[in-house]
Amino acid sequence: MRTQMATEAGRTTAPSEDRALVGPNLLAVLDGVTAKPENGCEHGVGWFADQLAAEILRVAHLEPAEGLRKAIEQAAELHSGTCDLDHPDSPSVAVAVVRIDGDALRYLVLGDATVVVDTKSELRVVSDTQTRRTAGAKVADVEHALTGEVPLADVRRVAILSDGAARAVDLFNLFDWPQALELMSANGPDDLIRRMRAVEKEDAKAVDWPRAKISDDATVVYLDR
Ligand SMILES: [Zn+2]
Repeated sequence: MRTQMATEAGRTTAPSEDRALVGPNLLAVLDGVTAKPENGCEHGVGWFADQLAAEILRVAHLEPAEGLRKAIEQAAELHSGTCDLDHPDSPSVAVAVVRIDGDALRYLVLGDATVVVDTKSELRVVSDTQTRRTAGAKVADVEHALTGEVPLADVRRVAILSDGAARAVDLFNLFDWPQALELMSANGPDDLIRRMRAVEKEDAKAVDWPRAKISDDATVVYLDR
């Protein structure tokens, strides 16, 4: 198995709040939800994304939902003494985790990150763009994660994308998902981001493709078997 990743900040003036993880049995993408000025936390979304990413990797031996619960608890403990974690705008991230567990590949999506699993018999595209639920300070949110598994032997390739990268497909329609996977297989995931940035630049006033952010932080983790 071969894993490649690509990530690029949406703007040159601010650091990316996306994070990508590649562990021995676990791949993940986290995408920090843009912070409101008042959010009860003195650390910020980037800090929270870093802490949660570290905790997710630490519990990579657990199945994804159990692992995410644990990671949220641990990350919350790191700032429960200094910050108001009951604040409705407490820092949070969209997160997608793919874990290889023996002969199964398990995935979890909480928020608008996307997991694409290409198997011998089907293409699964998993994302929650509707409920606006994310991984923040509360373990209970994990109940709303989309989860599933497929036999590892059937898996051909997997991609995990933050919404800033997935919009190459679901907003700009540069390709459909099978074509996007073909492109990544041939040229690597950075080519997807490069092509999308070219379109964003051409439509710099968001006329052809109305969107809140001209360019968003974009991250892809791509696994090929
Ligand atoms: Zn904090």
